[in-house]
Parts: sequence; structure tokens; C-alpha cells
Amino acid sequence: LPKVFLMAKPVLEHIEKQDHKAYFVGGCVRDLLLERPIGDIDIATSASPAFIQKIFTKVIPVGIEHGTVIVRHNNESYEVTTFRIDGNYSDKRHPDSVQFIDNIDKDLERRDFTINSLAMDLNGNMIDLFGGINDIEKRVIRTVGNGYERFTEDPLRIIRAIRFSSQLGFTIDPKTFQEMKDVSSEIKTLAIERIANEFTKLFAGNDVNRALTYVKDLQIERYLPVFCDFPHILSSLPASIRPLQSFAEVIALFHLVNPTIEVSRWVKEWKCSNKTKQEAIHLVEAYFHFESHGMDPWLIYRLTPAFYEGFIRISENITQTTTIRLQEMKAIEQQLSIHSKEELAFNGYDLMTLFPERKRGRWIQNLLKRIEFNVVSGKLENNKKEIKEWIKWNPPETN
Ligand code: ATP
Ligand code: MG
Repeated sequence: LPKVFLMAKPVLEHIEKQDHKAYFVGGCVRDLLLERPIGDIDIATSASPAFIQKIFTKVIPVGIEHGTVIVRHNNESYEVTTFRIDGNYSDKRHPDSVQFIDNIDKDLERRDFTINSLAMDLNGNMIDLFGGINDIEKRVIRTVGNGYERFTEDPLRIIRAIRFSSQLGFTIDPKTFQEMKDVSSEIKTLAIERIANEFTKLFAGNDVNRALTYVKDLQIERYLPVFCDFPHILSSLPASIRPLQSFAEVIALFHLVNPTIEVSRWVKEWKCSNKTKQEAIHLVEAYFHFESHGMDPWLIYRLTPAFYEGFIRISENITQTTTIRLQEMKAIEQQLSIHSKEELAFNGYDLMTLFPERKRGRWIQNLLKRIEFNVVSGKLENNKKEIKEWIKWNPPETN
């Protein structure tokens, strides 16, 4: 058993010592059988959330009303969720009500796909009520129960099916796919944040191209913000794209392919965070600079190491080549004279001292930016004397 499972064992053992049942469940069991890297370890139990909170010392009650308690054990977090059945999904976000039950069977029945409905006990015995193991072997995504009902109950499952096909490289069972088609218009009732969350994973999957074929086949674009107004966005993507690792990268790619749609529009209509917005803008600006100037020190300096790999992913998708090397970028970074403007040998106070008659204003920032650019580009040495001399020939704008 992989280490992450062994580390979680004491949590299950502790629950079982109190005469309750506990199982590994969902994605971790699926990924174990697939020999994929295991994400989170999720645990399902017959014990109530209150009971779990009582028997563990470090707990975080994250979703008590849905039966979930995070148990901390040896600095790891485990989601421990009480066996439950879901009520209606009338708000298309969360089930209206959940009912705790003491048998795992019905809990497995509420799960979306057969491959996600496996449970495993401490001895490695599998509970496989819906043929999940067989579907994992056949690499197929299939709903638990009637697809039409399951997708109607929570239309996000339509997008999740495609997301899993991207992540796992599985096909979608033809009957399930037909049922996705039949219910697809219900996607418009979903909260956009839930869709964005699945889309991020969809674009990050190794089989993103297969997934996009499914998306186009279902014409899901019709029910998604921005896409619905620009029906050709998806087909304007290069025929084969490489996986992206954040929604900011997704927005950056779409903006570079369709510059008429502003980043701010994507961000607004997809209700993204300000962080996502800033990252997308950062990547787009870097790419535009790259297009006109190539891989120069200023690009590397502005990008900062945290964005090197994202930048490579974006550029490779647009240029459809793999010519940009991380090694090259790091080598240029090593040669940079400064790594941030704090390292500049001249600052705003120095400028004000140099021009005592001038009032504070925009000219300071503008001149500092020019100094920064010239220092980074290797046209100006980063020392006070040289910079002072340079300013004589490149005085601040008059205003
Ligand atoms: P990943 O490794 O990407 O996190 P996962 O299978 O753990 O994959 P999650 O979205 O974390 O996926 O969900 C955990 C489990 O909860 C799923 O395996 C599935 O059993 C169940 N589940 C999650 N969302 C839904 C849903 N909308 N409808 C039904 N079951 C769901
Ligand atoms: Mg998970």
C-alpha cells in the first residue's frame, strides 16, 4: 500500500476501535488501482460528525451540515465524512439536505461515477457495488445508476465526466454520453464557480484534447459565459494543446487566441479572483513582449521565476513548438543585474534629492521605470554615480 494510505491507517483504526465502520473512499481508491499519484485521502464512516469530533483531538469542522470533519493526524489532513444520502439539489450547488445513514451502500450509490464509487477497508477489501473495478480496467466513465436522473440531479456531473476523461485518459461510455447530451442545457443553471473549478482540472489533464472534443461534441459552449457569445472560441484554439495548470493560464491562452475578448471580461463573467486576473494579465503581457522582443532579460526579469513554466505552457500552445527551454530562462535569470526594483541603486528619494525644485508626481515612477529597464537590459550599470550621469542625458519629462 502506498505511504499515504499507511499514514492514514491509524485514523481508520481509531474509528473502528469505537465500533464504527471506516473506509477509504472515492478518488484515492480509484487512483490506487490506477497506480496514479494519490491526491487527498477521503474517509467515509458510520460515525456521526459529532462523534468524530469527540474522538479526535485535532479536528476542523469544515462542513458539518454535510457530514464532513477534517481530522489532522501527523500533520496530514483527512476528510472524514459520515455515510449519507443527499436530498434535492434545487439550488444546483449543494444538496438541500443530507441524511446520515449507518450503511455505506447508499452512500456509494449517491456518487457520480462507478470509478468514484469504490470503497476499501483497512484490510484492502474492496466494496464495488457498481462495477467500478471493471470500468477502471476498461478505462470507461459511467454513471452510477440512471444517467439521465443523475445528470438532472446535479448537471455539474456532465462537466465532471469530461474532466475525469481528461485527467485519467478514459473514454465516456456511449450511453452515459448520450445522457449527458440530453441534459446538457441544464448546465446553465449551475453556479459558475463550480464550473470554473472543473474546467481548471479539465484543462490541466493530460488528455485535454480528447476532453475538448467531448466539449465541442456536446456544444457545452452554448451554456457557458463568454463562450456563448463567441461560438468559435474553442475551434480557434490550436488543434492540439498542452495541458495548462491554472485558470489564469486558460484565460491567457483564450485572450491570446482571441484578443478582442478582454481578460477583464473573462474574469468578470467567470467570477474569478483578483489573483487569477493579475496572473492572466501578467502572462499575456509577457507573451506580447516575447512576440516583439524575444527572450530578453527584461522579459525574464518581469516574469519572475514563479511564472516561467506557465509562460512556457502558454507560448508552446500558441507557437505549437517546444523551442523555449526552462534552462535558458534560468540561465538568463542568473545573469540579471537586479531581480527586483528594491535592488536598484537609485530610488524615489534619490530622485527628489536630485531635483529639489520638483514636486512629487508621476515623473518619479516614470523615470525609475526607465532606469530599471536600462539597468535590467544591461545598458546602464547599477550604481548611483552611473545612474546620476545617465539622468543628465535622460532627464525626467517636463510637466
Ligand atoms: P480528484 O483526485 O481530482 O480530487 P476525486 O474523485 O477525489 O478526484 P472530488 O471532486 O474531490 O473528486 O470528489 C470526491 C468524491 O466525491 C468523488 O470521487 C465522488 O465519489 C464524490 N463526488 C464529488 N462531487 C460529486 C458530485 N457532484 N456528484 C456525485 N458525487 C460526487
Ligand atoms: Mg478529491
